[in-house]
Amino acid sequence: MKRKPTVFGNWKLHNTLKDSEELARAIIDGAAPYADRCHVGFAPVFTALCTVAEHTRKSTTCTLLAQNGYPKPNGAFTGEVSFSLIKDVGCTGVLVGHSERRHLFGESDELVGEKVESALQTGLTVVLCLGETLDEREAGHTWEVVDRQLTSAMFHVPPALRDKVIIAYEPVWAIGTGKTATPLQAQEVHALIRKRIEENWLAESAQSTVILYGGSVNAKNAQELFSQPDIDGALVGGASLKPESFLEIIKAAAESAATK
Ligand code: PEP
Repeated sequence: MKRKPTVFGNWKLHNTLKDSEELARAIIDGAAPYADRCHVGFAPVFTALCTVAEHTRKSTTCTLLAQNGYPKPNGAFTGEVSFSLIKDVGCTGVLVGHSERRHLFGESDELVGEKVESALQTGLTVVLCLGETLDEREAGHTWEVVDRQLTSAMFHVPPALRDKVIIAYEPVWAIGTGKTATPLQAQEVHALIRKRIEENWLAESAQSTVILYGGSVNAKNAQELFSQPDIDGALVGGASLKPESFLEIIKAAAESAATK
């Protein structure tokens, strides 16, 4: 089964409302020629979602994602935003388990699993982020860590919701550092993730699940990463804040479809 190349931007804690709107418009317009060959999306800060949703709603090019969410529908949870409100504002997907959430905000595998379940039950697509730290890689524990994060978050998902899960393998040491995993390092982990999905779900699910790479992807390294058989696109941080570089990455992903 052919998987559609996918490129998502994570804008993190950047951009005013006006900046977010301008960036969204530039990407929506610039990505139009690739819309049939690449699934494009971006995750602005919460305060910009409502305004940016007015543009993504009218667009056939780009989808809107949130960067995080809370797995309770409502209640006394000051400062949190539920997945149903994220959907209500116009998002179709949400990042879950980003390494900054895990490492800066102490999110456990258990909480990430609850978030995956709640977001999927709400009808959102989940971009499940996972990856090892530098210490874990150097100690030879990369697969142990990735497998644990994958297993705890994903394999209880019922069959009807499995096609709503996208995986983003993001080695923590490569995020925002300028150090990219080599295409072969990334491919090795992507292939193991796909194999594990096959073992826990089905060969069909393994072939249809989109697995993105994330970690200092830019206009220069994107093409080589996307040429790997199990790398279906990217989750992009820094380079998604500039339309020119993000659009180059989208172009590389769209063109990679022809070579696979
Ligand atoms: C990210 O935030 O998910 C990310 C991959 O960031 P960067 O591209 O800046 O490394």
